[in-house]
Amino acid sequence: MISTKVNPYEMAVKQLEEVASFIKLKPSILEYLKHPKREFIVSIPVRMDDGTVKIFTGYRVQHNFALGPTKGGFRYHPEVTLDEVRALAMWMTWKCAVMDLPYGGAKGGVRVDPKQLSDNELERLTRRYAFELIPIIGPDKDIPAPDVNTNPKTMAWFMDTYSMAVGYTAPGVVTGKPIEIGGSKGRIEATGKGVVFILSELLNRIGMDPKDVRIAIQGFGNVGTHTALDAYRLGCKIVAISDVSGGVYDPKGLDIPTLFDWAMQNPQGHLASYPEYSKITNKELLELDDIDVLIPAALEGVINETNADNIRAKIIIEGANGPTTPEAEKILLDKGKTIVPDIVANAGGVTVSYFEWVQDLQSFFWEEEEINSKLKKIMVKAFDRVWTYSKEQNISLRMAAYAYAVSKVARAIELRGIFP
Ligand code: NAD
Repeated sequence: MISTKVNPYEMAVKQLEEVASFIKLKPSILEYLKHPKREFIVSIPVRMDDGTVKIFTGYRVQHNFALGPTKGGFRYHPEVTLDEVRALAMWMTWKCAVMDLPYGGAKGGVRVDPKQLSDNELERLTRRYAFELIPIIGPDKDIPAPDVNTNPKTMAWFMDTYSMAVGYTAPGVVTGKPIEIGGSKGRIEATGKGVVFILSELLNRIGMDPKDVRIAIQGFGNVGTHTALDAYRLGCKIVAISDVSGGVYDPKGLDIPTLFDWAMQNPQGHLASYPEYSKITNKELLELDDIDVLIPAALEGVINETNADNIRAKIIIEGANGPTTPEAEKILLDKGKTIVPDIVANAGGVTVSYFEWVQDLQSFFWEEEEINSKLKKIMVKAFDRVWTYSKEQNISLRMAAYAYAVSKVARAIELRGIFP
């Protein structure tokens, strides 16, 4: 991951402890919530194209299912760790709760560099990972989805493997599938679209015209590309974007539709080799001084103690999960910055995943217009509630979002009681 010594799980627990003290959460419930409900570690043997066999480690962590079946993506990355997956699973619990979705939180990951594998090897890896998870996944149990380096094609292999194992087609076992096999219209764009619904709401509240807003986005994958495109359509100037290789910068504003088309046609392409524009490093992008809004949309821990002091943007909207460490957040809040937390800002993905699951269970599919208008309604409602509460209580947006989410999950645990 991005070079930082941050342990994401310690970071997630610290955030939970802070909110627990604010909402005066019972110590027993705090202790309950610090521990994931279930952790699954699997060894995944994959026959490589050259006949050798490689073993990869896969994880699935289900943090809490007090509110419903667990939900959360799985990622392929060479530096995935159990602690990272644990943190991401806990954040999914809060994200589903703050959005009022009937889900608990989970996350998965395989420690692999997918760029080193052929398509056939990736398919065998995905199918074996899915098969290993069968005891704990299912439309009523735990419903995975795409995340870093996984996509609709990965979800199709996953769904097919589960369906072969149970003996019938079970589209509701995973979301983010291709539309032809039970995916939802609007799912691919949903996370970026949601980020921009939130951006637009926020600009409205602080009286800024989108045309005067300058944005830098780190990450040009699923979340970054769609965020950039929708923010551009809203009228904002996107002056910098980057991926793992570095990025491109133009103070006059980048031609996002052209860059978007390029990214769609070159899924393995790197912005550092893009033929136009000045080049910029990821470090420089985060610290640009001529931007109003910074949108980290790559990996966690990128805004930390080492660079928080150098962040110039007034507004940070967390497209990625966990991009700001608690230490960095404190520095930024002390300087009067506004940070829209991941569990609200990037919840468009899980919200449309929820729509996909509902459509799969009913075998009744909705038009994109209906999906986008329902998505907007849910995002605006959640943001409004969090914004209002943060103003009333004079607390950060993250604290307000967590206060609502953690209280809701705690209440569900209390109502259900501790088994037996
Ligand atoms: P993706 O794999 O489609 O894209 C990731 C992007 O980050 C790529 O452009 C990649 O080059 C870049 N990147 C990777 N390592 C980097 C590094 N070290 N420095 C800078 N850039 C780097 O993944 P995604 O689905 O867009 O997910 C991005 C983030 O958003 C993750 O934190 C993910 O958990 C979160 N998220 C994704 C969704 C979703 O629906 N896909 C929903 C909510 C949150």
